[in-house]
Amino acid sequence: MGRSPLETRLRDIYRRLQTRYGPQHWWPAQTPFEVMVGAILTQSAAWVNVEKAIKNLKSAGVLDPAALRFLPHDALAGLIHSCGYYNVKATKLKALAEWLGRYGDNLDAAFNRNITQLREELLSIFGVGEETADSIILYAAYKPIFVIDSYTRRIMSRLGLAPAKDSYTAYQRLFMDNLPTDAPLFNEYHALLVAHAKNACRTKPVCPSCCLKEICIAADSLLSFQTRKHGNEADSRPLHSASSPE
Ligand code: SF4
Repeated sequence: MGRSPLETRLRDIYRRLQTRYGPQHWWPAQTPFEVMVGAILTQSAAWVNVEKAIKNLKSAGVLDPAALRFLPHDALAGLIHSCGYYNVKATKLKALAEWLGRYGDNLDAAFNRNITQLREELLSIFGVGEETADSIILYAAYKPIFVIDSYTRRIMSRLGLAPAKDSYTAYQRLFMDNLPTDAPLFNEYHALLVAHAKNACRTKPVCPSCCLKEICIAADSLLSFQTRKHGNEADSRPLHSASSPE
C-alpha cells in the first residue's frame, strides 16, 4: 500500500528539518533515570536551568531514586532551585522516586509492560502529565510514542496541519496514525521540532530563511505582515524626526 498524502507531508517536513538541523542526539542525559528527572524539572523551565539543577543533584550524589526518597524535602528543593516551582517539583521528584521504589528501583522492571499500561501508571504519579509521561516512555523506556508540546502545536498549526480538535491526543494521533510506529523516528522528529521552534518558528517566526517556508500556509501572511509592520515603522521614523526639536 502506498503512502497517504498526510504521511508524505509529515515525512517531507521531517526530511527538511533533518537536512537543516542534523542529528539531535536526544535526550541529553547519561541515564534513563536522569531523563525522568529532567522530564519533570523541565516543566515550565528553560533547559539551561534544568542543567544547573541536574548538576547540583549529581554533585550532591543524590541523582538516584533511593537517595531522592531519603533526602529531606527542603534540601531537594534547594538543589533544584534554578528550575522554578522548586517546592512542588521536589514533591513530584519524591513521588516519582516512591513509584520506582515499588519496583525495587529497577527501571527495567518498572518499564516492563505495554505502552498503554505504562502510560496509565505514569499518569497516576503526582506531577506527571501527558507530555512528561510520554517523554519518559520515549526517551527513558525507549518505547514508541510521540511527544506533543507547545512547539509541535505551533509549527503544525502554522503549516496548516492542525487537527480538527485542539487536544494533546489529536496532535499525537496526527503523527502516530500517519507514521510507522518507530521509537528512533519519534525520538528524532520531536527533537527536530523543538530545534525548529527555537531557531525559526519562534513566537515571532523567522520565515525568510525557514526550511519549511515552501510548504507553510502561514509563511506568506506572516511575511507580508512583518514587511508591512517594518514598512510602517520605517515610515514613522522620518515623521518622528521631523517633529523633534532641532
Ligand atoms: S515559514 Fe515561518 S511560520 Fe512557517 S514553519 Fe517556517 S518559521 Fe514557521
